[in-house]
Amino acid sequence: MINRDRAVQTFIDLARIDSPSGKEDDVARWTVARLQALGFTVQEDAFGNLVARQEDSGPSPLVLSAHMDTVQPCIGIQPSIEGNLIVSDGATIVGGDCKAGMTAILEALASLQEEGVASIPVEVFFSRQEEMGLVGAKNLDFPLLTGKQAIIFDTNGPVETIVSGAPTHYAFNVEVVGRAAHAGAEPEKGLSAILLASEIITRLSQGRIDSETTANVGLIEGGSVRNSVPARAIFKGEFRSRNPETLAKVKSMVQDSVDEVRNLHSAATIELEFIKEFDGYNLTGDEPLLAKVTSALGSLGLEPQLGPTGGGTDANILRQHGIESLVVGMACREIHTVKEVVDITWLVNAARFCETMITNHGS
Ligand SMILES: [Zn+2]
Repeated sequence: MINRDRAVQTFIDLARIDSPSGKEDDVARWTVARLQALGFTVQEDAFGNLVARQEDSGPSPLVLSAHMDTVQPCIGIQPSIEGNLIVSDGATIVGGDCKAGMTAILEALASLQEEGVASIPVEVFFSRQEEMGLVGAKNLDFPLLTGKQAIIFDTNGPVETIVSGAPTHYAFNVEVVGRAAHAGAEPEKGLSAILLASEIITRLSQGRIDSETTANVGLIEGGSVRNSVPARAIFKGEFRSRNPETLAKVKSMVQDSVDEVRNLHSAATIELEFIKEFDGYNLTGDEPLLAKVTSALGSLGLEPQLGPTGGGTDANILRQHGIESLVVGMACREIHTVKEVVDITWLVNAARFCETMITNHGS
């Protein structure tokens, strides 16, 4: 039986362990001990991601996944219970993203173990540095994962929230090199890298391009002192779209803007680099895993709520590796803010959902 008090305690124990991205060692150690106590063998890859299963988990176990890192501010979280919610003291997040997901998985395993289920057909994947750009998943030693279907806890809302589509995400970096000169004595000899960078940036459409597409320049650096024509400037941007055609158009817009400014100022050197962060996806509605999830939710009296997201999750990476993956709600609201809360009813439902998925997977 899913045990509400045990689940709440698991979450509180996890929330109290600091685990900012890149510093997941403590939470990983705690999690390894918990998984071992549940009879799981835990493998840690070179990056520190955890993959755990029992000896006899079957040929194609169900992958249940969450990430171990949390976004700032997340040092010294003081979780407390207010009615049906777990909250922080207002100075930090509460860490439900994604420790509520970890809790749901661990509670389901504890419940099955308690009921004497001999072999649980599950592979647990807990990643690191998800919040830094899916870094753990990108570095996962993929042969460790044998399952072909994965449930990933990583969106706002109750477990019946299902992400129906996620964008493809590109990053881009621009470096402009002009020519330094004294700003007062002989500015004619200079070529301002900051001015050229701004000429490029003002050519770029930014913000919400359409309902499926966003673009942003998020960082700019350049120059060294007030009285010198700046010789160098860099800026970093990104764009995302769930529509491949629009994505290609935005990519061309960035390329064309750089090319135009380069042609206007042949004395400058302008470098543009695109980095594809991850591929997006759109569910068609015919996915076998979606049918299983819908059926499990239905048996708990929950109605699936499908909707797209503008962000990436580990699912984007797992799907690129041929693992059918769905992202579900992890029982939180207002993630990535100090107002983040974990809804205890949702947390219990998420654990029940895991248990049902596992039971159905094995039968
Ligand atoms: Zn997350």
